[in-house]
Amino acid sequence: MSDLRELYQEVIFDHNRNPRNFGRPSQTNREAEGYNPLCGDKVRVYLKIDNGVIVDAAFEGSGCAISTASASLMTEALKGKTEAEAARLFDEFHGMVAGSGVHPELGKLEVLSGVREFPARIKCATLAWHTLNAALKSTGEPVSTE
Ligand code: ZN
Repeated sequence: MSDLRELYQEVIFDHNRNPRNFGRPSQTNREAEGYNPLCGDKVRVYLKIDNGVIVDAAFEGSGCAISTASASLMTEALKGKTEAEAARLFDEFHGMVAGSGVHPELGKLEVLSGVREFPARIKCATLAWHTLNAALKSTGEPVSTE
């Protein structure tokens, strides 16, 4: 178990140091902004959706290692998913950090399962996901974890 935990931490550090899909893509048609006042994490999620499929996902922002790694891993996981699959992924991710349910589709996102032992960090891990939800619904309103 501790080997697994070390591997998980390595993946999180790697995605924090070298976030994937960071920056505003030239073509997007959905976006939303999120803020976690408890930690000061800010994120903006960009999506390009074609015929219900997420063909591009990216983010910008500044925050702690958990929020950055979570956004990075999330944008990686989203590409090629339909909007319905992305919504299901959101539910699974939420279930995982809340410590409930099974989550067969999360794959690499399992590295963030450790946050459930640190309730204060759960919002860091879920911020990008709440922002994704807002982007999918394209409310245009900033979202807050509070
Ligand atoms: Zn944070």
